[in-house]
Amino acid sequence: MSSQKPSSSTAVLQAIRLHGGLSRSRLAEFTGLSRATISEISNSLLRQGWIEELMDGGTPSGKGRPATLLQLASNDRVMVGGELTDDGWALAAFDLTGQVLSQEACAVDVWSPQAAKAALIDSIDTLRSRYGSRCLPVLGLGLAGLVNTRTGVVESAADIGWRGVEFGVPVSRDLGWPTIVVNRHRARGLAECRYGAGVTADPMLYVGIGSGVAAGLYIHRQLFSGAHGGAGEIGHIPINPDGPPCPCGNRGCLQVLVSSTALVREVRRSIRDGSPSRIADRNHFDVEFLQMHDLTEAEAHGDPLVRRVLRVGGAYLGMALAGLVNTFNPEGIVLGGSVPHAFPILVDEATQVMRQRAIMPIASKTCVQLAHLPAWSGALGAISYALDTHFTGPAVR
Ligand SMILES: [Zn+2]
Repeated sequence: MSSQKPSSSTAVLQAIRLHGGLSRSRLAEFTGLSRATISEISNSLLRQGWIEELMDGGTPSGKGRPATLLQLASNDRVMVGGELTDDGWALAAFDLTGQVLSQEACAVDVWSPQAAKAALIDSIDTLRSRYGSRCLPVLGLGLAGLVNTRTGVVESAADIGWRGVEFGVPVSRDLGWPTIVVNRHRARGLAECRYGAGVTADPMLYVGIGSGVAAGLYIHRQLFSGAHGGAGEIGHIPINPDGPPCPCGNRGCLQVLVSSTALVREVRRSIRDGSPSRIADRNHFDVEFLQMHDLTEAEAHGDPLVRRVLRVGGAYLGMALAGLVNTFNPEGIVLGGSVPHAFPILVDEATQVMRQRAIMPIASKTCVQLAHLPAWSGALGAISYALDTHFTGPAVR
């Protein structure tokens, strides 16, 4: 490594991080470095344990056997990321290949940025004391709302009352690590793109639907952030001009038609209007206390009202997807969040409407899948995003 500039070795490692197993000739293409330089750097990285050789069949090669691809090695380095969920921090430590090593959950009053920051620092200190100098000194965080990835400021997260909250810089100052913040849906999408349902799709579109709605677009396996980190704020795409009012001041935005909050509200409204539903037949039923799990249970029993509401919500989602498919022509769409996982009927309707409404040759080739990764995907995506700009490879040591 000594004869090579750190920037060259970092460029090689970054190319392998982003694209997975690469041959030496593909590495030369991606980095613009000569074959001789690639050979020298890769030999050094192999000796240091950053990368390993992979046979075509997918098995790491034994010593002396021919190998064609280079991939990151699951060595002793640790990367740390976190996501602020509706309940608190979901933090996790990963090896370089994205395998989870440990998780740290921490309940917190998410309405208080000060409380969230204090709890975060404590929990990260726990992880740092566990792994010590094995940690790459960078932190990635997935946060709710419109998050400015460049300034570290949460511009607006109406769901938890944050507006103009400086988060990345103060956390970075307290921890002594560069801290990169990104919208949590877009973080989950990046994890799906690199490690989950979207690994073969380029471009890939991720749409997260829970209490809010947001998307991420991934081109050549990297997040397209837009000018201020706001690319993917699809929750406020206008869909139905006569729809319910939205906190943004408009009516009928996607978020007030298909989020979990919107679906629950629509079922409540229909029951109050007298639509028959098995939910309303229960003893001591109070429509005001209706929750998402009531919808899940009713749908599983074939409740016609709930199924109608889910189909209508799915159709609205399908119209939004059709617009996105026509605009970006993604190879694959990954749907994540609580709503798609709870309601396959809504996903089926959305997919059908997307295929009907988008331009036919494009729509028919667009694959729609559910997200694969478990709850820590936001933490994995956030640290992956942070390392995209703050990975210094062997120079870290
Ligand atoms: Zn809106």
